[in-house]
Amino acid sequence: MKGLLLFSADQLWIKQTTEGPSWLFDVDPLAFDLAEPLSVPTEAGEGVFAAESAEAPVPGAERMRLRTLFDLVAPQRYAQVGLASQLLHWRRVHRFCGACGMPLQRHATERAMICPACSHIAYPRINPVVITLISRDDRILLAHKAGGVLPFWSLVAGFVEAHETLEQAVAREIAEEVGLRVTNIRYASSQPWPFPNNLMFGFTAEYESGEITPDGVEIAEAGWFGRDDLPPIPSRVSIARRMIDAFFAST
Ligand SMILES: [Zn+2]
Repeated sequence: MKGLLLFSADQLWIKQTTEGPSWLFDVDPLAFDLAEPLSVPTEAGEGVFAAESAEAPVPGAERMRLRTLFDLVAPQRYAQVGLASQLLHWRRVHRFCGACGMPLQRHATERAMICPACSHIAYPRINPVVITLISRDDRILLAHKAGGVLPFWSLVAGFVEAHETLEQAVAREIAEEVGLRVTNIRYASSQPWPFPNNLMFGFTAEYESGEITPDGVEIAEAGWFGRDDLPPIPSRVSIARRMIDAFFAST
């Protein structure tokens, strides 16, 4: 396989085909900014690259937001787009050394940028996020984010802080955002979340005590919902939806 994925900020250039959106273009990666290999090129120089372009690579190409594409294609196909997006975001924000300010260079043997002056190495950054399905008998806690940007209700989620276990992050986020204590915190599954560079760790937990008290900053509203009274929930490709579906399939 060879080809080039082209991004314009947080949008991907795609071409609509009868089989859905396609994004691998047969153009020279070296003609574009930040050309980044996604796979090891063969001796013939073939491989898949990602790069940036504000111009359409071919006539008829259009821009699509990554989040929109995420809901349209299978996770296996989306993985290539997610990897490309995360690597380009990393390259955009690692042009200079964070220690001494010199322009960074490509590391000779690793997927990394290295400083020629002080040897500081910058690897692609991944931010861990915990997302938790809290159950109370046959109901689950769903929350609606503050700000009104998302049209659905979802599970409580938040970033892991420095020197915190994933389980500690689960308990802290739930206490902060909805004022509850939980017990029986268990790892469920994970999902790369390239908006722009998160890794979602999915957990389940059981309600222990407390009254739902949305923090009003991250969470505007929250409540307990059963199988028959669910509000709008996230699309099927998201880890949140997969955990919600798995809970109601098992109860
Ligand atoms: Zn440096």
